[in-house]
Order: sequence, then C-alpha cells, then structure tokens
Amino acid sequence: MDFNRYFRNEELETTLKEWKGQYKTLLSIDTIGKSHEGRPIWVAVVTNKETGPDKEKPAVWIDANIHATEIAGTTTSMSIIHALISGYGKDNQATRLLDTSVFYVVPRLNPDGAELALADSPLYIRSSVRPYPWDEKEEGLHVQDIDGDGRILQMRIEDPTGEWKVSSLDPRLMEKRKPDEQAGIFYRLLQEGLIEDYDGYQIKVANPYQSLDFNRNFPVEWRPEDEQKGAGPYPTSEPEIKAMVDFIVTHPNINAAIAYHTFSGVILRPPSTHPDEEMDANDLWVYKAIGKRGTDLVGYPNVSVYHDFRYHPKQVIAGVFDDWMYNHLGIFAFTVELWDIISRAGIEERKYIEWLRDHPHEDDHKILKWVDKNAGEDGYDDWYEFDHPQLGKVEIGGWNRMYTWENPPYNLIKEEAERNIPFALALGDMLPHLEISTLEVNRIEEGTYHINLVVDNSGFFPTYTNNQGQTRKTIRPLRVELEIPEDVEIINGKRKSELGHLEGRSNKIGQIFVLSSPTDNRARIEWVLKAPKDSKLIIHIKSERAGIIHKEVTLI
Ligand SMILES: [Zn+2]
Repeated sequence: MDFNRYFRNEELETTLKEWKGQYKTLLSIDTIGKSHEGRPIWVAVVTNKETGPDKEKPAVWIDANIHATEIAGTTTSMSIIHALISGYGKDNQATRLLDTSVFYVVPRLNPDGAELALADSPLYIRSSVRPYPWDEKEEGLHVQDIDGDGRILQMRIEDPTGEWKVSSLDPRLMEKRKPDEQAGIFYRLLQEGLIEDYDGYQIKVANPYQSLDFNRNFPVEWRPEDEQKGAGPYPTSEPEIKAMVDFIVTHPNINAAIAYHTFSGVILRPPSTHPDEEMDANDLWVYKAIGKRGTDLVGYPNVSVYHDFRYHPKQVIAGVFDDWMYNHLGIFAFTVELWDIISRAGIEERKYIEWLRDHPHEDDHKILKWVDKNAGEDGYDDWYEFDHPQLGKVEIGGWNRMYTWENPPYNLIKEEAERNIPFALALGDMLPHLEISTLEVNRIEEGTYHINLVVDNSGFFPTYTNNQGQTRKTIRPLRVELEIPEDVEIINGKRKSELGHLEGRSNKIGQIFVLSSPTDNRARIEWVLKAPKDSKLIIHIKSERAGIIHKEVTLI
C-alpha cells in the first residue's frame, strides 16, 4: 500500500476491511458510534486474539482527524495499524506488542468533516457539519471554493487602505505594509469566499456557519460560548465526542493515548489550563520523560500547552481531549501536531504560536521557495483575475494552505506518517504488564497443599498508570481470585484478595539517590488448601490497567 495518500471515507473503510480479511487474528474492526450525519466512526482493535481478548490486555488509544481538515492524522493512524499487523512475526517489537497489548485506533473521528475537506470541491470546516451556534449563516464573508478549481486560496483586492503590498522578495508573495508606509499600491487580503448579506460596501468576516470545535467538547473544565467559542451547548453534546468518551470509559485498560492533529511538528502534553507547578510532580517528570522519548524517536519537541502553545496570551483552551484523559482518568495522553512546513523550510528555533502572529517576512519567502521545490505546482498559485459575483474584479491566488501548511503535500505524507510510528509503538512498550514470577505448589501432606504466588509488574507504568489516576480513584487495585472445585477447601488465605497496586519503573524517575530500587513492583500471596489429588483450580489475577492472567494449576 502506498501511504502517500489521503483516505476518503470509502477508501478508509475498504482498506480496513481488506486488512481485516488479511490479518484475521490480529485485527478487528468495529464502530464506536455514528457521526452527526450517520457515518460510522471506525475503530481498529489491533492485538493478537490468540494470546487473549483485547479487554484483558493493557492498551494504547490513538485517534485522529477530530478536526475536519487534519487528514494527515488519518494517514498516520493507518500507517501505525499497518506497521503493527504487517510487522507481526517479522519485527520483534510489533510481535511483542500484539501478543501482550492492544492498540485501539480510530483513524478518523470526524468522517463528516473529512468528507467535505476531501470533496472535489472542498469545504473546510473546524469540526462538525452541524450548524452552530445558529442555524443560519451570519452576515459577512464565508470561506469557499468560488471558482470551482478544487482549492481554497486567497483573494486580493487593491485598496489604498489595505495592509498588504506585493513582496520585494518575490512578486507572487504578499508582505505586510509597514506602520508608517504611505507610497505604493496596497491590498486587502481575504480568504476565497462569498459574502452573506453584502451591502456593496462593508466586508465583515463572519463566524463560520459550522463553528463547533469537537476538541472543546470534552467533559473537563468545559466552558460556555461567551468564554470559549465552539465548545457546544454542553460537554459531550456532539455524537462523535459522546461515542469516543463512552468507548474510553468502558475500556479501563487504556493507559496512554495520542490524538493526531496538524500542524506544527510538536508533541503537546497537558495541562492546557494550569501551569506545570500545579501538577503532581512525579506525573510531570514521567510526562516529560515520555515526551522526551517522543522527541528522540520522532524529532518533534515536547511542550506544555499552557506554557508553550497558547493561541492568545490571556486565554487558555479548555474541554480538550488530553486534559480530560489525564485529569479525570489518569491516562498519559498527548496531542501530536503533525507536520511542520516552517522547520522544513529551514526556520529552526521558534515560538510556535508567536511565530504565526509575527515573524520576519524573509521566513515567508523561505517557505515559498521550499514549496516551489517540494510541493509541486499546486502549493502556491500566482494571482489570477476572477470576476467575483459580489466584489467584481478581484485576484485569486496565494497559498493552497490545505496541502502546504495544514497537511503535507501528497508526496510527503507517507514520510511524515512513518516518522511518527515509533513513538506510538514506544507507548505500547511502556504499559504495565502482570507476570507470574513465581508459582510454587507444594504438597504438605496427603490432601493438603501450599501455594506460593509472586506477581510482578514488568512495565514502566505502575498498575495505576499515574498518581492522578490514584487521586481520582479511577483504577481498582490488583485482585487475585481462586476458582476452585466444590470439594476444595481453603484452609488459609481467601478466595478473593486485594493485592494493592504494583509500581513500575516510572516512580523511580524523580529519585535523586540512585541506589533506591526496591521490589515495589512485586506482590506475594499464599494459600493452604485441602483438596483431593489432581484437583484443578484457576488463579485469576486481575488489573484494569495491566491486564488479566488466568493460570490453571493442577494439584499433584
Ligand atoms: Zn487539531
């Protein structure tokens, strides 16, 4: 399969079904629910079914394309699924992960929005197709492909009061007018589109007709419209988010997560609404350690949303996925913003959002030169005249943002998707895992047996994933249960016991003294049984996050 592609809904479904047919024991596909327009939201359940059902193994959650135009995440998710199933039996990591863990992958959370984004005559919306907050178009400019060429570019209109001028570096490029600049030809720049209720004079920029932002609709610190636009009428009001939240809360085996977005080439972590200082210190150290592995493997820096990725210095974003996952469920969740045209063009060292607001014009020129060389002729269009039905003669041209800034050009999506696979797989290798390190059955005398069981967590994460999960009481401690025939009697010990939680290696991260490595990842339990010879019993060791073991024992 050539991953230099953006999947339309039909192709996504066909490909998943094809893979399922090909890799029957490794892949199941299901739906988590339906979109506003009734399209299925597919989830790929990737695990070796022969080593146990998915719900009895620790899990990683991956989703993508929650925002309609961020289709690079879908290709990335599909690449991850494919790397796992096609690598099984050949690649040690893929084999180990599928034998012992599960990946729940939703390659496209927003099929309605993606349908529009990938249409022959596309429409780019934020999230849902459901009109919001009003069921009628607001007065002003609404973005759309008005000349029917399949692209949404910019419009420039000559105007002495405009804030743009033709660039001195390249006549195709537009440059900001200096604060005191008077002589010259100036322009207004607008997105390609039509104006609702145009009076012939005033051009307002309307709030989009479909203004919902799914990634503000999660049930954590949700804010109403006056405080945060597009968050919906109440948390999980949108079927796509409701479906996702329902799936996640009914799969307590999930420990870690990535939501793929675009763009910036950065691994974002919570919190979005509070400074790091207010976070549990060990959780922060672990978050940073995981993020650093992401940086090592993918090359994207790892930063906090609150400190380093704010759209406005006075505002925070709330009701977002990774905050909900960490804050309420104690899951290590990341938001990966795929693709970074800015660093591709050779512009290193920058503040993400600040750069977008203000940067040297030379940077735009560098990006244009990079696009000329790498993005084909479709990346930037020289200005051409167009007879606008409302504005009369305008020029259309500029960035084809969808396949330059927002997503990689078609010839580069495979590479960008593939570079992200190792971090997703690395999360799988950090999961907690239960292992029986000792199981001794000794016959004390005729009909009396002693069982000594020692269980280890062999993972990096503890069986409670992180301290936040402990605080929120979202994860039950480890339980051991003996399933015994009727004629077997427990003399010493209990049929059901709680073993507490087992630490992983992650609680040692913040330690300063290096010689402190206790066996806090280990639990021990003993029983004395009165039983006839050859009795069979089953020991069930259960953990929500670290998986379930069923061990059959015969008393001989
Ligand atoms: Zn996004």
